Amino acid sequence: MRQTVVIGGGASGMTAAVFAAREGDQVALLEHTDVLGKKLLSTGNGRCNLTNRIQEPSCYHSENESFPFPALKRFGYGKTLQFFRGLGLFFKDRDGYLYPRSFQASAVREALLSELSRLEVDIRTNCVVEEIKAENGRFLVKARDNSFAADAVVLACGGKAAPATGSDGSGYGLACSLGHRMILPVPALTGLLASPNPLKKAAGVRADGTITLYIGEKEKKMAGEDTGELQITDYGISGIPAFQVSRYASRALAEGKMVQAQVNFFSEYEKREAKEILAQALDREGDCFQNLCGLFPEKLSAVFLKKTGLPVHIPSKRLEKRKKQQLSELICSFPLNITAVNDFSRAQVTAGGINTDDVWPETMESRLFPGLYFAGEILDVDGNCGGYNLQWAWASGFLAGKQGRL
Ligand SMILES: Cc1cc2nc3c(=O)[nH]c(=O)nc-3n(C[C@H](O)[C@H](O)[C@H](O)COP(=O)(O)OP(=O)(O)OC[C@H]3O[C@@H](n4cnc5c(N)ncnc54)[C@H](O)[C@@H]3O)c2cc1C
Repeated sequence: MRQTVVIGGGASGMTAAVFAAREGDQVALLEHTDVLGKKLLSTGNGRCNLTNRIQEPSCYHSENESFPFPALKRFGYGKTLQFFRGLGLFFKDRDGYLYPRSFQASAVREALLSELSRLEVDIRTNCVVEEIKAENGRFLVKARDNSFAADAVVLACGGKAAPATGSDGSGYGLACSLGHRMILPVPALTGLLASPNPLKKAAGVRADGTITLYIGEKEKKMAGEDTGELQITDYGISGIPAFQVSRYASRALAEGKMVQAQVNFFSEYEKREAKEILAQALDREGDCFQNLCGLFPEKLSAVFLKKTGLPVHIPSKRLEKRKKQQLSELICSFPLNITAVNDFSRAQVTAGGINTDDVWPETMESRLFPGLYFAGEILDVDGNCGGYNLQWAWASGFLAGKQGRL
Protein backbone atom coordinates (compact mmCIF):
# COMPACT_ATOMS: atom_id res chain seq x y z
CA MET A 1 0.00 0.00 0.00
CA ARG A 2 1.24 3.47 -0.92
CA GLN A 3 2.27 5.48 2.14
CA THR A 4 1.68 9.22 2.33
CA VAL A 5 2.91 11.37 5.19
CA VAL A 6 1.29 14.79 5.57
CA ILE A 7 3.22 17.26 7.73
CA GLY A 8 0.96 19.94 9.24
CA GLY A 9 -2.59 19.43 10.49
CA GLY A 10 -4.16 22.71 9.40
CA ALA A 11 -6.79 23.35 6.74
CA SER A 12 -4.62 22.29 3.81
CA GLY A 13 -2.98 19.31 5.54
CA MET A 14 -6.29 17.84 6.69
CA THR A 15 -7.68 18.22 3.16
CA ALA A 16 -4.60 16.59 1.62
CA ALA A 17 -4.86 13.70 4.10
CA VAL A 18 -8.55 13.16 3.27
CA PHE A 19 -7.93 13.02 -0.49
CA ALA A 20 -4.86 10.80 -0.21
CA ALA A 21 -6.76 8.38 2.03
CA ARG A 22 -9.72 8.38 -0.37
CA GLU A 23 -7.25 7.19 -3.04
CA GLY A 24 -6.48 4.22 -0.79
CA ASP A 25 -3.15 5.48 0.60
CA GLN A 26 -2.08 4.64 4.11
CA VAL A 27 -1.86 8.16 5.51
CA ALA A 28 -0.10 9.55 8.56
CA LEU A 29 -0.88 13.16 9.50
CA LEU A 30 1.82 14.71 11.68
CA GLU A 31 1.06 17.84 13.69
CA HIS A 32 3.51 19.42 16.10
CA THR A 33 0.92 21.08 18.38
CA ASP A 34 -1.53 19.16 20.56
CA VAL A 35 -4.55 19.54 18.23
CA LEU A 36 -5.43 19.73 14.55
CA GLY A 37 -6.87 22.86 12.97
CA LYS A 38 -6.12 25.38 15.72
CA LYS A 39 -5.97 28.27 13.26
CA LEU A 40 -9.14 27.16 11.53
CA LEU A 41 -11.03 27.77 14.78
CA SER A 42 -10.03 31.44 14.83
CA THR A 43 -10.91 32.13 11.18
CA GLY A 44 -13.62 34.64 10.34
CA ASN A 45 -13.82 35.69 14.02
CA GLY A 46 -14.67 32.11 14.93
CA ARG A 47 -17.24 31.83 12.13
CA CYS A 48 -14.90 30.61 9.33
CA ASN A 49 -15.33 32.39 6.03
CA LEU A 50 -14.48 29.25 4.10
CA THR A 51 -14.72 30.51 0.53
CA ASN A 52 -16.19 33.26 -1.65
CA ARG A 53 -18.63 33.14 -4.54
CA ILE A 54 -16.64 35.83 -6.36
CA GLN A 55 -13.45 34.25 -7.69
CA GLU A 56 -11.25 36.57 -9.75
CA PRO A 57 -7.53 36.39 -10.55
CA SER A 58 -7.00 39.65 -8.63
CA CYS A 59 -8.08 37.90 -5.40
CA TYR A 60 -4.89 35.78 -5.32
CA HIS A 61 -1.25 36.86 -5.24
CA SER A 62 2.11 35.23 -5.93
CA GLU A 63 5.43 36.30 -7.44
CA ASN A 64 4.50 33.71 -10.05
CA GLU A 65 1.14 35.29 -10.89
CA SER A 66 -0.45 32.41 -12.79
CA PHE A 67 0.58 29.68 -10.33
CA PRO A 68 -2.63 29.45 -8.23
CA PHE A 69 -5.09 29.11 -11.13
CA PRO A 70 -4.77 25.48 -12.28
CA ALA A 71 -5.52 24.39 -8.69
CA LEU A 72 -8.40 26.84 -8.32
CA LYS A 73 -9.79 25.71 -11.64
CA ARG A 74 -9.75 22.08 -10.51
CA PHE A 75 -11.07 22.77 -7.04
CA GLY A 76 -12.82 26.11 -6.89
CA TYR A 77 -15.78 27.58 -5.07
CA GLY A 78 -18.26 24.96 -6.35
CA LYS A 79 -16.03 21.96 -5.53
CA THR A 80 -15.36 23.36 -2.06
CA LEU A 81 -19.07 23.54 -1.30
CA GLN A 82 -19.59 20.07 -2.79
CA PHE A 83 -16.76 18.65 -0.67
CA PHE A 84 -18.05 20.10 2.60
CA ARG A 85 -21.67 19.36 1.71
CA GLY A 86 -20.54 15.73 1.39
CA LEU A 87 -19.17 15.99 4.93
CA GLY A 88 -22.56 17.14 6.21
CA LEU A 89 -22.08 20.92 6.25
CA PHE A 90 -24.70 23.47 5.19
CA PHE A 91 -23.77 27.07 4.37
CA LYS A 92 -24.73 30.69 4.81
CA ASP A 93 -23.98 33.06 1.93
CA ARG A 94 -23.44 36.64 3.09
CA ASP A 95 -23.04 38.77 -0.05
CA GLY A 96 -20.90 36.04 -1.60
CA TYR A 97 -18.91 35.30 1.57
CA LEU A 98 -19.56 31.66 2.53
CA TYR A 99 -19.76 30.43 6.14
CA PRO A 100 -20.91 27.21 7.75
CA ARG A 101 -24.64 27.60 8.43
CA SER A 102 -23.99 27.35 12.19
CA PHE A 103 -21.53 30.28 11.90
CA GLN A 104 -19.12 28.12 13.90
CA ALA A 105 -15.63 27.40 12.61
CA SER A 106 -15.62 24.33 14.85
CA ALA A 107 -18.24 22.79 12.53
CA VAL A 108 -15.72 22.88 9.65
CA ARG A 109 -12.97 21.37 11.76
CA GLU A 110 -15.28 18.66 13.14
CA ALA A 111 -16.41 17.74 9.62
CA LEU A 112 -12.79 17.25 8.54
CA LEU A 113 -11.86 15.37 11.73
CA SER A 114 -14.70 12.91 11.39
CA GLU A 115 -13.78 12.23 7.75
CA LEU A 116 -10.14 11.66 8.77
CA SER A 117 -11.33 9.24 11.41
CA ARG A 118 -13.69 7.44 8.98
CA LEU A 119 -10.75 7.01 6.58
CA GLU A 120 -8.55 5.72 9.44
CA VAL A 121 -5.87 8.34 8.94
CA ASP A 122 -3.12 7.87 11.52
CA ILE A 123 -3.15 11.22 13.35
CA ARG A 124 -0.08 12.04 15.40
CA THR A 125 -0.23 15.22 17.48
CA ASN A 126 2.73 16.62 19.46
CA CYS A 127 4.82 15.17 16.66
CA VAL A 128 7.76 17.49 15.98
CA VAL A 129 9.19 16.79 12.53
CA GLU A 130 12.90 17.57 12.39
CA GLU A 131 14.14 16.18 9.10
CA ILE A 132 13.03 14.76 5.76
CA LYS A 133 15.45 12.44 3.99
CA ALA A 134 14.96 11.56 0.35
CA GLU A 135 16.47 8.19 -0.61
CA ASN A 136 15.97 6.13 -3.80
CA GLY A 137 12.64 7.77 -4.67
CA ARG A 138 11.26 7.29 -1.14
CA PHE A 139 11.29 9.46 1.96
CA LEU A 140 12.12 9.08 5.61
CA VAL A 141 10.40 11.65 7.83
CA LYS A 142 12.23 11.94 11.11
CA ALA A 143 10.25 13.28 14.05
CA ARG A 144 11.66 13.79 17.54
CA ASP A 145 10.31 10.44 18.83
CA ASN A 146 9.54 8.51 15.67
CA SER A 147 10.38 7.96 12.01
CA PHE A 148 7.97 7.45 9.13
CA ALA A 149 8.81 5.90 5.76
CA ALA A 150 6.81 7.30 2.87
CA ASP A 151 6.30 7.13 -0.88
CA ALA A 152 4.97 10.68 -0.82
CA VAL A 153 5.31 13.59 1.59
CA VAL A 154 2.99 16.60 1.70
CA LEU A 155 4.41 19.72 3.33
CA ALA A 156 1.42 21.66 4.70
CA CYS A 157 3.04 23.49 7.60
CA GLY A 158 1.51 26.94 6.94
CA GLY A 159 3.52 30.14 6.92
CA LYS A 160 4.52 32.37 9.82
CA ALA A 161 1.25 34.19 10.54
CA ALA A 162 -0.40 33.72 13.94
CA PRO A 163 2.44 31.51 15.25
CA ALA A 164 0.49 30.83 18.47
CA THR A 165 -1.65 28.47 16.35
CA GLY A 166 1.40 26.39 15.41
CA SER A 167 2.53 27.86 12.08
CA ASP A 168 5.97 28.98 13.16
CA GLY A 169 7.75 28.84 9.81
CA SER A 170 9.50 25.56 10.60
CA GLY A 171 8.12 24.05 7.37
CA TYR A 172 10.31 26.41 5.36
CA GLY A 173 13.43 24.85 6.88
CA LEU A 174 12.24 21.34 5.93
CA ALA A 175 11.64 22.43 2.31
CA CYS A 176 14.89 24.38 2.05
CA SER A 177 16.89 21.41 3.37
CA LEU A 178 15.75 19.64 0.17
CA GLY A 179 16.90 22.52 -2.00
CA HIS A 180 13.68 24.55 -2.32
CA ARG A 181 14.04 28.32 -2.60
CA MET A 182 12.08 31.00 -0.78
CA ILE A 183 10.39 34.31 -1.48
CA LEU A 184 10.93 36.35 1.70
CA PRO A 185 7.87 35.78 3.93
CA VAL A 186 6.26 39.01 5.18
CA PRO A 187 3.11 39.62 7.24
CA ALA A 188 -0.10 40.34 5.29
CA LEU A 189 -3.76 40.99 6.05
CA THR A 190 -2.79 43.16 8.97
CA GLY A 191 -2.82 46.76 10.23
CA LEU A 192 -0.59 49.60 9.00
CA LEU A 193 1.59 51.63 11.37
CA ALA A 194 1.90 55.36 10.71
CA SER A 195 4.67 57.51 12.13
CA PRO A 196 3.87 60.13 13.19
CA ASN A 197 0.25 59.07 13.59
CA PRO A 198 -1.90 62.15 12.98
CA LEU A 199 -5.04 60.05 13.57
CA LYS A 200 -4.03 58.96 17.09
CA LYS A 201 -6.59 61.19 18.85
CA ALA A 202 -9.32 59.44 16.84
CA ALA A 203 -8.22 55.95 17.97
CA GLY A 204 -11.22 53.66 18.37
CA VAL A 205 -13.22 55.35 15.61
CA ARG A 206 -14.63 53.23 12.78
CA ALA A 207 -15.37 55.13 9.59
CA ASP A 208 -16.10 54.21 6.00
CA GLY A 209 -13.48 55.27 3.50
CA THR A 210 -11.01 54.35 0.80
CA ILE A 211 -7.35 53.72 1.43
CA THR A 212 -4.85 54.08 -1.43
CA LEU A 213 -1.29 52.91 -1.02
CA TYR A 214 1.66 54.51 -2.82
CA ILE A 215 5.17 53.12 -3.00
CA GLY A 216 8.41 54.92 -3.79
CA GLU A 217 9.90 58.31 -3.05
CA LYS A 218 10.42 60.17 -6.30
CA GLU A 219 8.20 58.15 -8.60
CA LYS A 220 5.25 57.25 -6.41
CA LYS A 221 3.38 54.24 -7.77
CA MET A 222 -0.09 53.26 -6.67
CA ALA A 223 0.19 49.72 -5.30
CA GLY A 224 -3.31 49.01 -4.03
CA GLU A 225 -6.64 50.49 -3.04
CA ASP A 226 -9.62 49.27 -1.07
CA THR A 227 -12.87 50.66 0.30
CA GLY A 228 -14.83 49.72 3.40
CA GLU A 229 -14.90 50.21 7.12
CA LEU A 230 -11.59 51.57 8.42
CA GLN A 231 -10.58 51.23 12.06
CA ILE A 232 -8.46 54.02 13.42
CA THR A 233 -6.02 52.83 16.05
CA ASP A 234 -3.41 54.39 18.31
CA TYR A 235 -0.70 53.06 15.97
CA GLY A 236 -2.28 53.89 12.61
CA ILE A 237 -5.01 52.25 10.61
CA SER A 238 -6.62 48.84 10.51
CA GLY A 239 -9.85 47.23 9.28
CA ILE A 240 -10.41 45.24 6.11
CA PRO A 241 -9.36 47.96 3.59
CA ALA A 242 -6.03 48.37 5.42
CA PHE A 243 -5.65 44.57 5.55
CA GLN A 244 -6.19 44.28 1.81
CA VAL A 245 -3.36 46.68 0.93
CA SER A 246 -1.00 45.56 3.73
CA ARG A 247 0.76 42.89 1.61
CA TYR A 248 2.09 45.62 -0.69
CA ALA A 249 3.21 47.83 2.21
CA SER A 250 4.86 44.89 3.93
CA ARG A 251 6.86 43.83 0.88
CA ALA A 252 7.89 47.39 -0.02
CA LEU A 253 9.04 48.18 3.53
CA ALA A 254 11.05 44.93 3.62
CA GLU A 255 12.76 46.14 0.44
CA GLY A 256 13.54 49.51 2.06
CA LYS A 257 11.06 51.48 -0.04
CA MET A 258 9.00 54.43 1.10
CA VAL A 259 5.28 53.76 1.67
CA GLN A 260 2.54 56.34 1.90
CA ALA A 261 -1.20 55.98 2.26
CA GLN A 262 -3.97 58.38 1.46
CA VAL A 263 -7.33 57.96 3.09
CA ASN A 264 -10.48 59.37 1.53
CA PHE A 265 -13.00 59.67 4.35
CA PHE A 266 -15.75 60.76 1.96
CA SER A 267 -15.26 58.24 -0.82
CA GLU A 268 -18.90 57.37 -1.37
CA TYR A 269 -18.93 60.49 -3.56
CA GLU A 270 -16.79 61.37 -6.52
CA LYS A 271 -14.15 63.87 -5.31
CA ARG A 272 -15.66 66.99 -6.91
CA GLU A 273 -19.11 66.21 -5.52
CA ALA A 274 -17.64 65.39 -2.11
CA LYS A 275 -15.91 68.77 -2.01
CA GLU A 276 -19.16 70.56 -2.96
CA ILE A 277 -21.05 68.81 -0.17
CA LEU A 278 -18.28 69.68 2.29
CA ALA A 279 -18.31 73.32 1.17
CA GLN A 280 -22.08 73.46 1.73
CA ALA A 281 -21.72 71.90 5.17
CA LEU A 282 -19.03 74.43 6.11
CA ASP A 283 -21.16 77.34 4.89
CA ARG A 284 -23.81 76.64 7.50
CA GLU A 285 -24.35 78.75 10.63
CA GLY A 286 -22.65 77.42 13.77
CA ASP A 287 -19.13 76.31 14.39
CA CYS A 288 -17.01 74.20 12.12
CA PHE A 289 -16.76 71.27 14.50
CA GLN A 290 -20.52 71.04 14.83
CA ASN A 291 -20.93 71.20 11.06
CA LEU A 292 -18.31 68.50 10.44
CA CYS A 293 -19.94 66.31 13.07
CA GLY A 294 -22.98 66.15 10.80
CA LEU A 295 -20.76 64.12 8.46
CA PHE A 296 -18.00 62.47 10.49
CA PRO A 297 -17.49 61.04 14.01
CA GLU A 298 -16.59 63.71 16.60
CA LYS A 299 -13.04 62.55 17.26
CA LEU A 300 -12.29 62.44 13.56
CA SER A 301 -13.79 65.90 12.99
CA ALA A 302 -11.53 67.26 15.72
CA VAL A 303 -8.48 65.65 14.07
CA PHE A 304 -9.38 67.22 10.70
CA LEU A 305 -9.56 70.71 12.25
CA LYS A 306 -6.35 70.31 14.24
CA LYS A 307 -4.40 69.03 11.24
CA THR A 308 -5.60 72.05 9.22
CA GLY A 309 -4.30 74.30 12.03
CA LEU A 310 -7.76 75.43 13.13
CA PRO A 311 -9.20 75.73 16.63
CA VAL A 312 -12.00 73.22 17.18
CA HIS A 313 -14.70 75.76 17.88
CA ILE A 314 -14.15 78.30 15.14
CA PRO A 315 -17.40 79.65 13.62
CA SER A 316 -17.80 78.33 10.06
CA LYS A 317 -18.47 81.86 8.78
CA ARG A 318 -15.01 83.01 9.94
CA LEU A 319 -13.23 80.33 7.97
CA GLU A 320 -11.22 81.66 5.01
CA LYS A 321 -11.95 80.08 1.62
CA ARG A 322 -8.37 78.79 1.47
CA LYS A 323 -8.76 77.00 4.81
CA LYS A 324 -12.06 75.47 3.74
CA GLN A 325 -10.33 74.10 0.64
CA GLN A 326 -7.48 72.74 2.74
CA LEU A 327 -9.95 71.07 5.06
CA SER A 328 -11.88 69.33 2.30
CA GLU A 329 -8.62 68.32 0.56
CA LEU A 330 -7.48 66.74 3.81
CA ILE A 331 -10.76 64.87 4.30
CA CYS A 332 -10.59 63.44 0.77
CA SER A 333 -6.84 62.69 0.76
CA PHE A 334 -5.65 62.31 4.36
CA PRO A 335 -1.90 61.47 4.13
CA LEU A 336 -0.25 58.84 6.31
CA ASN A 337 3.43 57.96 6.34
CA ILE A 338 3.48 54.17 6.71
CA THR A 339 6.59 52.99 8.50
CA ALA A 340 5.68 49.40 9.41
CA VAL A 341 2.95 46.80 9.42
CA ASN A 342 1.89 44.70 12.38
CA ASP A 343 4.14 41.69 12.92
CA PHE A 344 3.31 38.04 12.21
CA SER A 345 1.62 37.61 15.59
CA ARG A 346 -1.13 39.99 14.42
CA ALA A 347 -1.19 39.06 10.74
CA GLN A 348 -3.77 36.71 9.22
CA VAL A 349 -1.52 35.39 6.46
CA THR A 350 2.00 35.28 5.08
CA ALA A 351 2.87 36.81 1.73
CA GLY A 352 5.85 34.94 0.28
CA GLY A 353 7.04 31.44 1.19
CA ILE A 354 8.25 28.52 -0.92
CA ASN A 355 9.07 29.77 -4.40
CA THR A 356 6.44 28.35 -6.73
CA ASP A 357 8.90 28.24 -9.65
CA ASP A 358 10.04 24.94 -8.15
CA VAL A 359 6.53 23.44 -7.88
CA TRP A 360 4.23 22.04 -10.62
CA PRO A 361 1.02 24.09 -10.57
CA GLU A 362 -1.18 21.23 -11.87
CA THR A 363 -0.22 18.80 -9.07
CA MET A 364 1.60 20.77 -6.32
CA GLU A 365 4.51 18.34 -6.74
CA SER A 366 8.07 19.54 -6.25
CA ARG A 367 10.02 19.92 -9.48
CA LEU A 368 13.13 18.98 -7.49
CA PHE A 369 11.90 15.85 -5.68
CA PRO A 370 9.16 13.74 -7.28
CA GLY A 371 6.89 12.53 -4.50
CA LEU A 372 7.25 15.72 -2.45
CA TYR A 373 4.12 17.90 -2.49
CA PHE A 374 3.12 21.27 -1.04
CA ALA A 375 -0.24 22.59 0.15
CA GLY A 376 -1.55 25.85 1.60
CA GLU A 377 0.11 28.91 2.97
CA ILE A 378 3.63 27.43 3.02
CA LEU A 379 3.74 28.30 -0.69
CA ASP A 380 4.19 31.79 -2.05
CA VAL A 381 0.45 32.28 -2.56
CA ASP A 382 -1.75 34.59 -0.52
CA GLY A 383 -5.31 35.66 -1.01
CA ASN A 384 -7.41 38.69 -0.23
CA CYS A 385 -9.45 38.82 2.92
CA GLY A 386 -12.83 37.15 2.28
CA GLY A 387 -12.40 33.36 2.20
CA TYR A 388 -9.63 33.27 -0.42
CA ASN A 389 -6.87 31.92 1.80
CA LEU A 390 -8.95 28.97 2.90
CA GLN A 391 -10.05 28.43 -0.70
CA TRP A 392 -6.37 28.18 -1.58
CA ALA A 393 -5.81 25.72 1.32
CA TRP A 394 -8.68 23.46 0.12
CA ALA A 395 -7.64 23.63 -3.56
CA SER A 396 -3.94 22.99 -3.04
CA GLY A 397 -4.68 20.38 -0.35
CA PHE A 398 -6.93 18.55 -2.82
CA LEU A 399 -4.17 18.41 -5.47
CA ALA A 400 -1.45 17.43 -2.99
CA GLY A 401 -3.64 14.60 -1.69
CA LYS A 402 -4.55 13.38 -5.17
CA GLN A 403 -0.87 13.35 -6.25
CA GLY A 404 -1.69 13.37 -9.93
CA ARG A 405 -4.43 10.69 -9.64
CA LEU A 406 -7.01 13.03 -11.13
C1 LIG B 1 -7.15 35.27 12.91
C2 LIG B 1 -7.22 34.67 11.53
C3 LIG B 1 -8.41 34.70 10.85
C4 LIG B 1 -8.48 34.18 9.54
N1 LIG B 1 -9.68 34.16 8.90
C5 LIG B 1 -9.78 33.62 7.66
C6 LIG B 1 -11.04 33.50 7.01
O1 LIG B 1 -12.11 33.78 7.58
N2 LIG B 1 -11.05 33.01 5.73
C7 LIG B 1 -9.91 32.63 5.08
O2 LIG B 1 -9.98 32.23 3.92
N3 LIG B 1 -8.71 32.67 5.70
C8 LIG B 1 -8.62 33.14 6.97
N4 LIG B 1 -7.40 33.15 7.61
C9 LIG B 1 -6.21 32.58 6.91
C10 LIG B 1 -6.28 31.03 6.96
O3 LIG B 1 -6.61 30.61 8.25
C11 LIG B 1 -4.96 30.39 6.54
O4 LIG B 1 -4.54 30.91 5.30
C12 LIG B 1 -5.09 28.87 6.44
O5 LIG B 1 -5.47 28.34 7.69
C13 LIG B 1 -3.79 28.24 5.98
O6 LIG B 1 -3.92 26.85 6.07
P1 LIG B 1 -2.61 25.92 6.10
O7 LIG B 1 -3.09 24.54 6.31
O8 LIG B 1 -1.78 26.20 4.93
O9 LIG B 1 -1.78 26.43 7.35
P2 LIG B 1 -2.17 26.42 8.91
O10 LIG B 1 -3.64 26.53 9.09
O11 LIG B 1 -1.31 27.46 9.53
O12 LIG B 1 -1.73 24.97 9.40
C14 LIG B 1 -0.38 24.57 9.44
C15 LIG B 1 -0.28 23.47 10.48
O13 LIG B 1 1.00 22.88 10.40
C16 LIG B 1 1.52 22.70 11.70
N5 LIG B 1 2.99 22.69 11.59
C17 LIG B 1 3.81 23.71 11.30
N6 LIG B 1 5.09 23.30 11.24
C18 LIG B 1 5.08 21.99 11.52
C19 LIG B 1 6.09 21.01 11.63
N7 LIG B 1 7.38 21.31 11.43
N8 LIG B 1 5.74 19.75 11.96
C20 LIG B 1 4.44 19.42 12.19
N9 LIG B 1 3.42 20.32 12.10
C21 LIG B 1 3.74 21.58 11.76
C22 LIG B 1 0.97 23.87 12.48
O14 LIG B 1 0.97 23.64 13.85
C23 LIG B 1 -0.43 23.99 11.88
O15 LIG B 1 -1.36 23.20 12.57
C24 LIG B 1 -7.30 33.65 8.92
C25 LIG B 1 -6.11 33.62 9.64
C26 LIG B 1 -6.06 34.11 10.93
C27 LIG B 1 -4.76 34.05 11.69
